[in-house]
Amino acid sequence: MDPYEKKIIDLIDENADRIISFARDVAKSGEASFFEFETARKVKEFLESLGLPVKFGIAVTGVKAETSGKRGPTVGIIGELDGIRCPAHPQAVPDTGISHACGHNAQMAIMLGAAIALSDESVSDRLFGNVAFLAIPAEEHVDSEVCDSLLEQGKLSIPSGKAEWVYLGELDDVDIAITTHVHMVPSNSDLLLGNNASTGTIGKKITIHGKAAHAAAAPHLAVNALNAASLGLSALGMLRETFREKDFVRVHPIIKKGGTAVNVVPDEVIIETMVRAGNIEAMLETDRKVDTAFTCSAAALGASCEIKNYIGKLPVIETPPCRALSDAARILSDKADISDIAPNVQNAASTDVGDLTHIMPVINFSHGGFEGALHSADFKICDEYKAYILPAKLAALTVYNLLKDNAENADELIKSFKPKLSRADYIKYAIDLTK
Ligand SMILES: [Zn+2]
Repeated sequence: MDPYEKKIIDLIDENADRIISFARDVAKSGEASFFEFETARKVKEFLESLGLPVKFGIAVTGVKAETSGKRGPTVGIIGELDGIRCPAHPQAVPDTGISHACGHNAQMAIMLGAAIALSDESVSDRLFGNVAFLAIPAEEHVDSEVCDSLLEQGKLSIPSGKAEWVYLGELDDVDIAITTHVHMVPSNSDLLLGNNASTGTIGKKITIHGKAAHAAAAPHLAVNALNAASLGLSALGMLRETFREKDFVRVHPIIKKGGTAVNVVPDEVIIETMVRAGNIEAMLETDRKVDTAFTCSAAALGASCEIKNYIGKLPVIETPPCRALSDAARILSDKADISDIAPNVQNAASTDVGDLTHIMPVINFSHGGFEGALHSADFKICDEYKAYILPAKLAALTVYNLLKDNAENADELIKSFKPKLSRADYIKYAIDLTK
């Protein structure tokens, strides 16, 4: 361990109480995607207290601070601002049902813990590049009503946190992103290095229009939108045998509106679903099948079908740990159980970190310190050192490894990265899907 690595660890240890109390505070006041105003304010104040200039309100609630003035690459540490609707969670906010049952409060604490160390002059003087601290909104699935409302008000062009940041150019000056999460695939390690593949997703709102009439006296005059929706769901069920295992297709609809009164034939039914798959081709192919199932089922019963798509997420491209991350982890390995991701382990859930993996180098690790299942009432941070402090050290040490010695590790990573999509092509995909 060199003296600057020791300094990073010492600074984070000295500030452990502050980092933990921030994480506890945010855990008690989770906010929904694009409504993370209070969380964002707290992040802003924390970053300002470190003497960093802060940009605020990016994509409604996002926060960005950067060390500046250095030539060389910029490494961005990302924290996700939003909670998840999980009213049964003991820390859910009573009015909204939002809690941090996905552990995003830990990401925020990790980012700020790393910021304490990396903004300290004794460390930042050794960096041949800049560090950005990025609190990005709306990683979770965003309700269609919220998407529609924010688009209509002109507050967003793409209703998804990281996508909108890319669209706004807020990640143009970030060369490498560091992302973290509580473990998303089963792991007993304290730290799991690398990024397992995940599914990508497209959000869909399917509105079936029929014709109302008295449900008992005149059903022959009606067009039953609920029957059309049921037929569409049956068609979707029959399509499932065409989904290939290797594509990890998941389609999981809910009925948001099934009718208005039991004695009136339903004239409008709203179904929302996510279409997920492990690759973009399977996402788009399945999306077309779902559209056909509902459109043709509606037509078969004389109803009509209106389908609106919402950007979801792109699949995460599996990435093993890079040298800077592995070297940083080695320093911490006497006090922590650390392992690399196992290859070819598919995460069936989705994250918009996947979008970033298509356009820029992303260094990812996940951490323990929690028990229970993600998005569930029993999710709980049970070891604050492992959930907040240890990962903050790993993030900060990784940045140091990337940017020390003329930023050789960062430059090598940037040069060797081959994007699957240009940023322009990615924005086109996102905008076309949102239209
Ligand atoms: Zn999450």
